[in-house]
Amino acid sequence: MNAYRNNSSTAGMPSNLADVPNSPIPYGRQCIDQEDMHSVLEALSSDYLTTGPKVAEFENALAHKVGTAYAVAVNSGTAALHCAMYGLGIGPGDEVIVPSITFAATANCVVYRGGIPVFADVDPHTLLLDPEKAEAKITARTKALIGVDYAGQPCDWDALHALACRHNLSLVADSCHALGAAYKGRNAGTLADVTAFSFHPVKHITTGEGGMVTTNSRETAQRMRQFRNHGISADHHTRAQEGTWCYDMVDLGFNYRITDFQCALGISQLKKLDAFLHRRREIAAWYSQALLDADRVAPLALNKNVQHAYHLFVVAVQGTHPADRRRRLFEHLRQAGILVNVHYIPVHLHTYYRHHYETAPGQCPSAEDAYNRIVSLPIHPGMRDSEVARVIDTLMNFSGQL
Ligand SMILES: *Cc1c(COP(=O)(O)O)cnc(C)c1O
Repeated sequence: MNAYRNNSSTAGMPSNLADVPNSPIPYGRQCIDQEDMHSVLEALSSDYLTTGPKVAEFENALAHKVGTAYAVAVNSGTAALHCAMYGLGIGPGDEVIVPSITFAATANCVVYRGGIPVFADVDPHTLLLDPEKAEAKITARTKALIGVDYAGQPCDWDALHALACRHNLSLVADSCHALGAAYKGRNAGTLADVTAFSFHPVKHITTGEGGMVTTNSRETAQRMRQFRNHGISADHHTRAQEGTWCYDMVDLGFNYRITDFQCALGISQLKKLDAFLHRRREIAAWYSQALLDADRVAPLALNKNVQHAYHLFVVAVQGTHPADRRRRLFEHLRQAGILVNVHYIPVHLHTYYRHHYETAPGQCPSAEDAYNRIVSLPIHPGMRDSEVARVIDTLMNFSGQL
């Protein structure tokens, strides 16, 4: 049993909505307690609201937790991905291979650098980037690969690493779903040259908005720190020589700084990560067990040698003509107050990419087929046992009609 089971996600709010039988169950939600609130209040009354001691403290705590040498905190997961692209030297005309099933930010970060995202298809059973499909997209201009640990399941990082080595590519992990996941005993955050995490409220831990990049390269970490602060050199040597007013903007960067009160929340949340993961895995186990008895809907496949972090619990409608049946399942669950979602519309099908990068339907058949089948069930650490049971009952009762 863990502390978050019956500790309602609405703790601290005046009315306990989770007690109402048909109250909405979101697919994801933050879990904030008194300790978190206290940490934020303490930071608010300190001397630093931003760029103070809480930022380094959060970076060190996360680096220690995942087992990486360097961590750079920024103000979103998208900023983390942008920093990763800059840190690895991705620039105009460079091609970067990304999976088609992901959030748009995975591809957008390449475009921010003037690069070209090249969409590769996913494995139909896991929806993770297929290393063979990725290899087929490599050209003389390819500079990097971004693997997405979709739903919280790590990619086949050994295969992606071998591919990156063979073709001299940088390897990036979009682990925005996967804080706390592991692959062959190695933690997410250590599986690629640079890893990006997000602290959006639906993710494993939250800072409201926020993100982090991890790396073992001192030089890459240094570049990303500079990029987070307008491209201003953090070289204290010149400051000491020229005068303390002196600073130098050596390259174009952004203001991607995160505040101290957000980092205070992150530090407090990180202490609860293991309990959060335990509860997510417990809910996933109940869903998986129940779905053994359903023949028209099934969870995505689980690879060997991984510890899944279950940011999402994705089920797929089985058999022919799935789109119509998926729509009916989605609408039935929504009407029952179970706020399922679909993750994701294949990125290459978005108007922007079709207009500017000449992508089109048919380019990633497994991703496009999966898109017609998938539904993300609610999963978050504040979910009560009764809510999990309600999702299972509603799903199982309807699955016979699919
Ligand atoms: C959440 C997420 C992001 C972006 O994170 P933000 O913090 O919302 O900017 C990027 N990639 C994936 C796969 C995500 O789930």
